[in-house]
Amino acid sequence: QLPSVREPLFAAYSAGQVPEVKRALADSALYKVVQCAPAIRVSLAEEFGLPMGTLTPGKMAAALRHLKFDRIYDTNFGADVTIMEEGTELIGRVMSGERLPMFTSCCPAWVKHAETAAPELLDHLSSCKSPMQMVGALVKTYGAKQNGVDPAKIYSVAVMPCTCKEFECSREEMEVDGLREVDVVITTRELAQLIKDAGIDFVNLPDEPFDSPLGIYSGAGSIFGVTGGVMEAAIRTGYELVTHETIPNLQLDFVRGEEGLRTATAQLGDLELRVAVVAGLKYVSEILKQVKEGTSPYHFIEVMGCPEGCVSGGGQPKLLLETLRKKAYQARKSSVYRHDSHQQVRKSHENPAIIKLYKDFLGEPLGHVSHHLLHTTFHSREKMSPNQALGVKED
Ligand code: SF4
Repeated sequence: QLPSVREPLFAAYSAGQVPEVKRALADSALYKVVQCAPAIRVSLAEEFGLPMGTLTPGKMAAALRHLKFDRIYDTNFGADVTIMEEGTELIGRVMSGERLPMFTSCCPAWVKHAETAAPELLDHLSSCKSPMQMVGALVKTYGAKQNGVDPAKIYSVAVMPCTCKEFECSREEMEVDGLREVDVVITTRELAQLIKDAGIDFVNLPDEPFDSPLGIYSGAGSIFGVTGGVMEAAIRTGYELVTHETIPNLQLDFVRGEEGLRTATAQLGDLELRVAVVAGLKYVSEILKQVKEGTSPYHFIEVMGCPEGCVSGGGQPKLLLETLRKKAYQARKSSVYRHDSHQQVRKSHENPAIIKLYKDFLGEPLGHVSHHLLHTTFHSREKMSPNQALGVKED
């Protein structure tokens, strides 16, 4: 039995975006949509005194409905879309030999680091937006159509384990047809505050489902919450796309682990895919040096800014004691993997909501609708002042 987390062990919180979201929730003219990152459902319960890593997707969906959101969608769905787009992009680059290695682009801390420290390598990043921004773009297009709502009336909230996601959602490029894709980002701690302020008895809430279609996800989507998860999800789909055979084992231990840099070779039929997983930006310098010198042996590199991936993000319940912090990260990680293993569908390309999205709306991965909504560009921040690099306007 893991220890429960009690209030005095937490760092002090600021109100952050809580007042802004409360104002929007009280505005009946707005159609309020929310998405939650994979790592929230394994940590939110800690804020309510439940054991570390308690898995509560159903209680989280129920609490969001009690808060009066009109649609409870999920970043995990966006993670499945990311695999469709990024996996196709990777296979194309491996076949052509162009712009290799390819880096993941879903962690805004890593993207900003690359824009600052290695602008000459930006075309090595996948052009995919993060799962959060993909869901944001789909909420105001595909989702708006499904729900019969004017996209301009949609207020899109993202609950993230991350303190960099607010910066990401404010990037100029993150706009769809003149509208912000995500209007506001709140952290796990801020969601807990909203639930507490509304007097919701989180611990005793009966489970409720997410809304369809943008709330339906596979096990592959849920493992984006841990380091190595994007890689594992991509290999599950990549294997089947390349070989046209069922992957023999879904648990890819060779990309799981604790080390800040892990490397492996995945056999996809005749293709030897050389991969690296980086957790923590201090481990990325050597990798960047190799790419700059043209000596990198890898095809695909996942980079996450936080030591265990998003389960250890800066917006998660914050433990003051390092020993407890480590326990919490381990418990949240195990919970993410347990959640994956309990899913009926564990590969992104087999998620029926994803199949329908491509059939009815996107057409095909990397098609022109996908390019318009789900892909982006990056730009050098090398010569910017610290404020400009963070997108803060200077007088
Ligand atoms: Fe944010 Fe950390 Fe996750 Fe990167 S790894 S997206 S910085 S929480």
